[in-house]
Amino acid sequence: MASLSDFVRPAILSMDGYVPGEQPKDRRYVKLNTNENPYPPSPRVLEAVRACAGEDLRLYPDPMADALRDRAAAVYGFRRENILAGNGSDDLLAMIIRACVGPGDRVVFPTPTYSLYDTLIGIGGGTAVEVPFGPDFALPAGLAAAGGRVTFVCHPNSPSATAVPIGEIEELARRLNGLLVVDEAYVDFAGESALPLVHRHDNLVVLRTFSKSFSLAGLRIGLAFAAPPLIGELAKVKDSYNLTRVGIAAATAALEDCAWMQENVRRIRATRDRLVPALRALGFVVPGSEANFVLARRPGQKQRATYEQLKERGILVRYFDTPQLADALRITVGTDAEVDALLKALGQIAGG
Ligand code: PMP
Repeated sequence: MASLSDFVRPAILSMDGYVPGEQPKDRRYVKLNTNENPYPPSPRVLEAVRACAGEDLRLYPDPMADALRDRAAAVYGFRRENILAGNGSDDLLAMIIRACVGPGDRVVFPTPTYSLYDTLIGIGGGTAVEVPFGPDFALPAGLAAAGGRVTFVCHPNSPSATAVPIGEIEELARRLNGLLVVDEAYVDFAGESALPLVHRHDNLVVLRTFSKSFSLAGLRIGLAFAAPPLIGELAKVKDSYNLTRVGIAAATAALEDCAWMQENVRRIRATRDRLVPALRALGFVVPGSEANFVLARRPGQKQRATYEQLKERGILVRYFDTPQLADALRITVGTDAEVDALLKALGQIAGG
C-alpha cells in the first residue's frame, strides 16, 4: 500500500503544521488570542460590502484589483505599479517565497517572530536561518552577514510587540544583497513605517494588512509595496483571482475612511497604555508595545497553566509552547471591558 512518503515531499513531511490561534467553537470567549480589532470596520465599508452582494457575484473579480491599488497608491503616495494586493498578507508572504526561494536557498529572520515565515520556507524547501533577538528585541547584528536570499523583519515584531528604528531597517536594506521583506501588519499601532524606504531601495518589500487596524480580518486583504519590476515578478506567481469582489470593494472603501481606522487605533493605544502597567503590577515583564497586543512574561516560569486557567474563565490568549516563549503570554488589546475582565481573572489566578 502507498504511504504518504511515496508522494508528499520530504520537506513537507518533516515540517510542523502551521496552526494559527484557536477559534472559539461553542461558548462565547473574550477573544484576545489572534490580534483582531475589537471595534467594527467603517460604516462605509459595510455599505460597500452590501452594495457588492448582488448579481455581479457571478463574475470573477478583477485579477489585479486595480481599484484597490489605485486608491492605495493615492493614500500612500505610490503608483499602481508599486502595489500588489493579496488575500491577506499571508498570501503575499507565500508569493514572495514562491517567487524567490527554492531548495537550499537561505532565508534569514530574527526570532522569535511570526511562525508562518518558517512554515512557508519549509514548503519552498528553503533553509531557515534564525538569528535570535537579544533580551531587548533590538535588531540583531549579523542579519546582513547571514547572507539571506530573502530576509524577513516583522515591524513591529510579533510576538514581542517591539519596533526598531527605521534607520536600522534602511541600513539593513542597503547592506543586503538579497531581498528585505518588512512585514508591517501592526505598523498603524506604532510610530514610524518603513514604507517611504520603498522609493529608495529596489530590494525592499513592505507588507500591510487590513486585518488589524482596519478591522477586516474576515475578508482577507493585504498589500505589498515594492519597486515595479519586483511587483511584476510576484504577480506572476499569484493565484489568478486571489481577492474576492467583496474584499476589493471593502478595502477600497476602508481607504476612503482612514479617519475611522485612526480613531480605533487611538482607542486601542489608550487601552494598551492601561494594560501594560497593570500587567507589570501583576508581576509580568512586558516590553513596551508598538502593536495591538503585548507580550507578558514571567521569566523562567512556564505560563501554560495561566493560559489554561484563563481559558476556563472564558478568556483566550495566545500561548506558544516553544523553549523561547513558554514563560510568556501574548495578549491582544481588546476593548476596555475585555481588558478589565482579563486583568481581574489574572489577579484571581495569581492570588490562587
Ligand atoms: N504578519 C504578521 C506578523 C501577522 O501577525 C499576521 C496575522 N496573523 C499576518 C502577517 C497575516 O495577516 P493577514 O494574512 O490576515 O493579512
